[in-house]
Amino acid sequence: MKRILVLGGGIGGTLVANLIARKLKKEEAEITLISASQRHIYQPVWLYIPFSMDDIRSASKPLKNLLNKRIKLVLGNITQLDAGIQKVTLEDGQQIDYDFLVVATGSHPSPEDVPGFKEGAHFFYTEDSASRLRVALEEFRGGKIVVGVGGLPHKCPVAPLEFTFLVEHFLNKRKLRDKTELTYTYPLNRVFTIESAAGYAQTLLEQRNVQIETFFNLEEVDPENKVIRSMEGTELPYDLLVMIPPHRGAKFLQGNPIADEQGWVKTNRNTLQVTGFDNIWAMGDTTDIPISKAGSVTHFEAPVVAERLVATLRKTTPHKKHAEYGGKVLCFIETGYGTATKLEFDYQNPPKTPKPNRMIRLEKILFNKAYFFLVPTGRI
Ligand SMILES: Cc1cc2nc3c(=O)[nH]c(=O)nc-3n(C[C@H](O)[C@H](O)[C@H](O)COP(=O)(O)OP(=O)(O)OC[C@H]3O[C@@H](n4cnc5c(N)ncnc54)[C@H](O)[C@@H]3O)c2cc1C
Repeated sequence: MKRILVLGGGIGGTLVANLIARKLKKEEAEITLISASQRHIYQPVWLYIPFSMDDIRSASKPLKNLLNKRIKLVLGNITQLDAGIQKVTLEDGQQIDYDFLVVATGSHPSPEDVPGFKEGAHFFYTEDSASRLRVALEEFRGGKIVVGVGGLPHKCPVAPLEFTFLVEHFLNKRKLRDKTELTYTYPLNRVFTIESAAGYAQTLLEQRNVQIETFFNLEEVDPENKVIRSMEGTELPYDLLVMIPPHRGAKFLQGNPIADEQGWVKTNRNTLQVTGFDNIWAMGDTTDIPISKAGSVTHFEAPVVAERLVATLRKTTPHKKHAEYGGKVLCFIETGYGTATKLEFDYQNPPKTPKPNRMIRLEKILFNKAYFFLVPTGRI
């Protein structure tokens, strides 16, 4: 019997383990999933926490309730992966061998990479930071708010734009907009990575009277003087700073031979196979594929990883339908005032961005509400 090991119990790990369990007979393989957390977290909810638009409790469910009964769940922090001898080591010393491996350990914010960040900046990319930002916004009475991106790549590329649109609406509702100067910073020479979408977002920011500071690569946060400095030599004062921290792959991957120094796993963009290893696949935020680190990407990649892994195990050819990942991305974008738009694209087709409207926002909200029922279990 073959041993399949899935690392990570987020969107990617949970879904792919369930899809594999559905495809393989019990006698063909045993499936184990390792997760550092006993909860499966749906991170998109965190965007709403600073504005009290959702409750932190709705962002997670017990992981074991979402897994097919035949999947063995091991809770623990992975500290080492030795792909040469096909072994994973956990912090408590436990070692687990595998024949086939899926790496889906995501990405995490790394505020410690920027001097002064932890002391001076808010963000909303963890449960705690989102809750702290809610308090800071509650107490805000006007002044300078700077929202920006402190390093690329980061997960959910559209989230800082969404936050800016939502905070602008929030300030208006609180009658604080006239008393607040709102600035958006981005490391590139435009407001978003994808050029066509950047033009669209810039127009929307300008319509909402948001100041734009491009080519702003965050060098340090100076909490004492309440300014941020960029590598380009720009200095911006703030009263409330909301920055997306630089991101990294899981610590045990940083510098591992299958990944680079930052922990991004070297992955084929179509087959999702890890470079140099026929028995390892990577998916989701942890890959080095230059595509959005988004739950939707992970969702669309899972059937390909499951299909290819099962075909390799059975020594057959993957079914055409899920043989390759074509770069599909679908991101909803909150634009404030009860409206949203979306970005939908793949490797061949650039994004189209419809005019923000209430129907798209309804789609986003319904998807978020139905997420736990539909996605990790593989219903869609
Ligand atoms: C505020 C916010 C809003 C977002 N909004 C959207 C959105 O609207 N649409 C969208 O598509 N995406 C969105 N995303 C991005 C999305 O949440 C991620 O891209 C997605 O979760 C990636 O899935 P993943 O499976 O790769 O990683 P994750 O879901 O992060 O899962 C990683 C798993 O690995 C485990 N793990 C990590 N390290 C270890 C270790 N050392 N040992 C054991 N286990 C480990 C973790 O415990 C976790 O279970 C948002 C993200 C944030 C932060």
